[in-house]
Amino acid sequence: MSYDELYIKSAIRSIADWPEAGVIFRDVTTLFKDPKAMRMVCDAFVQRYMNQPITHIASIDARGFILGSVVAYQLNLPLILIRKKGKLPGDTISQDYSLEYGSAAIEIQTDALEPGAKVLVFDDLIATGGTVLAAISLIRKLGAEVHEVAALIDLPDLMGSQKIQDSNVPVYSLLAYE
Ligand code: AMP
Repeated sequence: MSYDELYIKSAIRSIADWPEAGVIFRDVTTLFKDPKAMRMVCDAFVQRYMNQPITHIASIDARGFILGSVVAYQLNLPLILIRKKGKLPGDTISQDYSLEYGSAAIEIQTDALEPGAKVLVFDDLIATGGTVLAAISLIRKLGAEVHEVAALIDLPDLMGSQKIQDSNVPVYSLLAYE
Protein backbone atom coordinates (compact mmCIF):
# COMPACT_ATOMS: atom_id res chain seq x y z
CA MET A 1 0.00 0.00 0.00
CA SER A 2 1.17 3.50 -0.68
CA TYR A 3 1.19 6.20 1.94
CA ASP A 4 1.46 9.95 1.58
CA GLU A 5 4.95 10.67 2.88
CA LEU A 6 4.54 14.45 2.58
CA TYR A 7 1.27 14.41 4.49
CA ILE A 8 2.74 12.30 7.28
CA LYS A 9 5.81 14.56 7.47
CA SER A 10 3.59 17.61 7.65
CA ALA A 11 1.94 16.08 10.73
CA ILE A 12 5.27 15.71 12.58
CA ARG A 13 6.52 18.82 14.38
CA SER A 14 10.27 19.54 14.43
CA ILE A 15 11.65 21.33 17.47
CA ALA A 16 15.18 22.72 17.21
CA ASP A 17 17.64 22.46 20.11
CA TRP A 18 15.52 20.14 22.28
CA PRO A 19 16.23 18.47 24.65
CA GLU A 20 19.66 20.00 24.08
CA ALA A 21 21.49 22.27 21.63
CA GLY A 22 22.12 20.71 18.22
CA VAL A 23 19.28 18.13 18.36
CA ILE A 24 16.26 18.57 16.08
CA PHE A 25 13.56 16.73 17.99
CA ARG A 26 10.96 15.06 15.74
CA ASP A 27 7.80 15.43 17.81
CA VAL A 28 5.27 12.73 16.91
CA THR A 29 2.66 13.93 19.43
CA THR A 30 1.28 16.11 16.63
CA LEU A 31 0.97 13.01 14.42
CA PHE A 32 -0.86 11.16 17.20
CA LYS A 33 -3.29 14.12 17.30
CA ASP A 34 -4.02 13.81 13.58
CA PRO A 35 -6.24 10.76 12.97
CA LYS A 36 -5.71 10.81 9.19
CA ALA A 37 -1.91 10.78 9.53
CA MET A 38 -2.02 8.21 12.34
CA ARG A 39 -4.28 5.92 10.32
CA MET A 40 -2.02 6.24 7.27
CA VAL A 41 1.02 5.26 9.34
CA CYS A 42 -0.62 2.33 11.11
CA ASP A 43 -2.24 1.04 7.91
CA ALA A 44 1.13 1.11 6.11
CA PHE A 45 2.71 -1.03 8.86
CA VAL A 46 -0.26 -3.41 9.04
CA GLN A 47 -0.16 -3.86 5.27
CA ARG A 48 3.55 -4.64 5.33
CA TYR A 49 3.43 -7.17 8.17
CA MET A 50 0.06 -8.87 7.67
CA ASN A 51 1.38 -11.98 5.93
CA GLN A 52 4.80 -12.28 7.49
CA PRO A 53 5.97 -15.03 9.85
CA ILE A 54 5.88 -12.90 13.01
CA THR A 55 4.85 -14.36 16.38
CA HIS A 56 5.20 -11.25 18.64
CA ILE A 57 5.47 -7.48 18.49
CA ALA A 58 7.98 -5.92 20.88
CA SER A 59 7.42 -2.21 21.40
CA ILE A 60 9.94 0.15 22.94
CA ASP A 61 9.17 2.62 25.75
CA ALA A 62 7.41 4.98 25.25
CA ARG A 63 6.34 6.15 21.80
CA GLY A 64 7.01 2.69 20.33
CA PHE A 65 4.17 1.44 22.57
CA ILE A 66 1.64 3.57 20.73
CA LEU A 67 2.42 2.39 17.20
CA GLY A 68 3.26 -1.16 18.27
CA SER A 69 -0.01 -1.63 20.12
CA VAL A 70 -2.17 -0.57 17.17
CA VAL A 71 -0.30 -2.93 14.84
CA ALA A 72 -0.41 -5.81 17.35
CA TYR A 73 -4.18 -5.31 17.70
CA GLN A 74 -4.73 -5.26 13.94
CA LEU A 75 -2.55 -8.33 13.34
CA ASN A 76 -3.91 -10.14 16.39
CA LEU A 77 -0.39 -10.69 17.74
CA PRO A 78 0.91 -10.68 21.32
CA LEU A 79 2.44 -7.35 22.41
CA ILE A 80 5.67 -7.32 24.45
CA LEU A 81 6.91 -4.23 26.32
CA ILE A 82 10.58 -3.26 26.43
CA ARG A 83 10.76 -0.60 29.14
CA LYS A 84 13.14 1.84 30.70
CA LYS A 85 14.93 0.43 33.73
CA GLY A 86 12.89 -0.08 36.88
CA LYS A 87 9.42 -0.03 35.32
CA LEU A 88 8.72 -3.76 34.81
CA PRO A 89 7.79 -6.03 37.74
CA GLY A 90 9.01 -9.61 38.20
CA ASP A 91 12.18 -11.16 36.77
CA THR A 92 13.83 -8.98 34.16
CA ILE A 93 17.06 -8.72 32.22
CA SER A 94 18.63 -5.36 31.51
CA GLN A 95 20.83 -3.83 28.81
CA ASP A 96 22.76 -0.54 29.01
CA TYR A 97 23.11 1.63 25.90
CA SER A 98 24.07 5.13 24.85
CA LEU A 99 21.72 7.67 23.28
CA GLU A 100 22.06 10.59 20.88
CA TYR A 101 21.90 12.57 24.13
CA GLY A 102 22.98 10.68 27.28
CA SER A 103 22.83 7.03 28.31
CA ALA A 104 20.16 4.68 29.67
CA ALA A 105 19.14 1.07 30.25
CA ILE A 106 16.13 -0.93 29.07
CA GLU A 107 14.61 -4.15 30.37
CA ILE A 108 12.42 -7.06 29.35
CA GLN A 109 10.65 -9.61 31.53
CA THR A 110 12.35 -13.00 31.28
CA ASP A 111 9.06 -14.74 30.51
CA ALA A 112 8.07 -12.25 27.78
CA LEU A 113 9.29 -14.48 24.93
CA GLU A 114 9.96 -18.14 24.35
CA PRO A 115 12.97 -19.45 22.40
CA GLY A 116 12.11 -19.59 18.70
CA ALA A 117 9.74 -16.60 18.79
CA LYS A 118 9.97 -14.35 15.70
CA VAL A 119 9.73 -10.80 16.88
CA LEU A 120 8.94 -7.53 15.12
CA VAL A 121 10.52 -4.65 17.05
CA PHE A 122 8.73 -1.28 17.01
CA ASP A 123 10.00 2.18 17.87
CA ASP A 124 9.03 5.66 16.73
CA LEU A 125 12.49 6.77 15.60
CA ILE A 126 15.97 5.37 14.96
CA ALA A 127 18.76 7.85 15.70
CA THR A 128 22.09 6.29 16.76
CA GLY A 129 20.41 2.88 16.89
CA GLY A 130 21.54 2.35 20.50
CA THR A 131 18.04 1.75 21.85
CA VAL A 132 17.03 -0.73 19.15
CA LEU A 133 20.38 -2.57 19.34
CA ALA A 134 19.87 -2.93 23.11
CA ALA A 135 16.35 -4.26 22.46
CA ILE A 136 17.70 -6.76 19.90
CA SER A 137 20.27 -7.93 22.42
CA LEU A 138 17.57 -8.51 25.10
CA ILE A 139 15.37 -10.44 22.64
CA ARG A 140 18.30 -12.60 21.53
CA LYS A 141 19.26 -13.29 25.18
CA LEU A 142 15.82 -14.87 25.60
CA GLY A 143 16.52 -17.16 22.63
CA ALA A 144 14.12 -15.38 20.29
CA GLU A 145 14.81 -14.07 16.80
CA VAL A 146 14.27 -10.50 15.53
CA HIS A 147 12.34 -10.67 12.25
CA GLU A 148 12.68 -6.95 11.46
CA VAL A 149 12.83 -3.52 13.09
CA ALA A 150 10.02 -1.13 12.18
CA ALA A 151 10.22 2.59 12.87
CA LEU A 152 8.21 5.56 11.74
CA ILE A 153 11.33 7.73 11.29
CA ASP A 154 14.95 7.00 10.44
CA LEU A 155 17.77 9.53 10.82
CA PRO A 156 20.19 7.85 8.37
CA ASP A 157 23.00 10.38 8.91
CA LEU A 158 23.42 9.03 12.45
CA MET A 159 24.09 5.54 10.98
CA GLY A 160 21.82 3.75 13.47
CA SER A 161 19.80 1.84 10.89
CA GLN A 162 23.05 0.85 9.17
CA LYS A 163 24.41 -0.56 12.46
CA ILE A 164 21.20 -2.53 13.00
CA GLN A 165 21.43 -4.00 9.49
CA ASP A 166 25.09 -4.83 10.16
CA SER A 167 23.84 -7.00 13.04
CA ASN A 168 21.80 -9.00 10.49
CA VAL A 169 18.41 -7.46 11.25
CA PRO A 170 16.42 -5.78 8.44
CA VAL A 171 15.10 -2.28 9.11
CA TYR A 172 11.93 -0.76 7.67
CA SER A 173 11.01 2.90 8.18
CA LEU A 174 8.32 5.05 6.59
CA LEU A 175 10.23 8.35 6.66
CA ALA A 176 13.80 9.57 6.67
CA TYR A 177 15.08 12.96 7.80
CA GLU A 178 18.54 13.71 6.37
P1 AMP B 1 18.73 6.05 19.46
O1 AMP B 1 18.93 5.04 20.54
O2 AMP B 1 19.87 7.05 19.41
O3 AMP B 1 18.45 5.43 18.11
O4 AMP B 1 17.50 6.93 19.88
C1 AMP B 1 16.23 6.50 19.63
C2 AMP B 1 15.27 6.87 20.72
O5 AMP B 1 15.42 8.21 21.22
C3 AMP B 1 13.92 6.79 20.11
O6 AMP B 1 13.14 5.98 20.99
C4 AMP B 1 13.41 8.20 20.04
O7 AMP B 1 12.17 8.25 20.68
C5 AMP B 1 14.41 9.07 20.78
N1 AMP B 1 15.07 10.08 19.92
C6 AMP B 1 16.39 10.16 19.62
N2 AMP B 1 16.66 11.20 18.83
C7 AMP B 1 15.48 11.79 18.59
C8 AMP B 1 15.08 12.92 17.80
N3 AMP B 1 15.97 13.64 17.11
N4 AMP B 1 13.77 13.25 17.77
C9 AMP B 1 12.86 12.51 18.45
N5 AMP B 1 13.16 11.44 19.21
C10 AMP B 1 14.45 11.08 19.29
